[in-house]
Amino acid sequence: MPLRRPLLAGNWKMHKTIPEARDFAVNFLEKVENVTDIDMVICAPFTVLSVLKEELEESIIHIGAQNMYYETKGAFTGEISPLMLQDMACTCVIIGHSERREYFKEDDELIAKKIKAALEMSLTPILCVGENLAFREDGKALAFVRGQVEKDLMELSPSELQKVVIAYEPIWAIGTGKTASAQDAQEMCSAIRSTLSGIAGSVAQQIRILYGGSVKSGNIAELMAQPDIDGALVGGASLEVQEFAQLIQNAR
Ligand code: PEP
Repeated sequence: MPLRRPLLAGNWKMHKTIPEARDFAVNFLEKVENVTDIDMVICAPFTVLSVLKEELEESIIHIGAQNMYYETKGAFTGEISPLMLQDMACTCVIIGHSERREYFKEDDELIAKKIKAALEMSLTPILCVGENLAFREDGKALAFVRGQVEKDLMELSPSELQKVVIAYEPIWAIGTGKTASAQDAQEMCSAIRSTLSGIAGSVAQQIRILYGGSVKSGNIAELMAQPDIDGALVGGASLEVQEFAQLIQNAR
């Protein structure tokens, strides 16, 4: 099977001022400088991207954003374009996080356009998918998540798809302290991979699929041991240098 390099992505959400971000970057880099077998990215608020660029651009830690618009420039007040993210040395961008789907009403049509635009600008999109508790309890989680994957990625060619990262994040596990069991997470990540096979054939074996939802240093190893889980998207536990660095060490 082709190698899928593990990826651990921190999602800072709406946290950290400029001094806090600089302090984190300097201290975190010191702790993970020896990590060469895992890709690491910090997805930060737009306002601290320039600080991360100063501190991390030349390092092994990638810089990512948490959202973008799909146009390169124009009259779109308040939006940030993929070109602007390139300026900030970003290599990744989270697209379609459940908080954006829920609070900012992003739908699959918009998300599909953002994915395409990110790829056109050589940014790695981290596409988030995942069911809410009602779908899980009704036994509809698999069908719902497969539907999201199809709608968000259907227009991509196999060579574009290969560059996408997918994060399976059950909404009921985000920020709640409830992690999906490693078996449930594996079952869904495997279903996502089989959906990807339907779209892009054998390329699906090369696409990285992450799990996200209350991942911590204490549960990452079990999740990483699953055959279809290639890393994690980490919210709360990526905000503390010591905890995120420990999580990365435990993932290896
Ligand atoms: C997230 O922000 O994508 C996330 C998974 O958050 P947490 O790790 O805090 O559940």
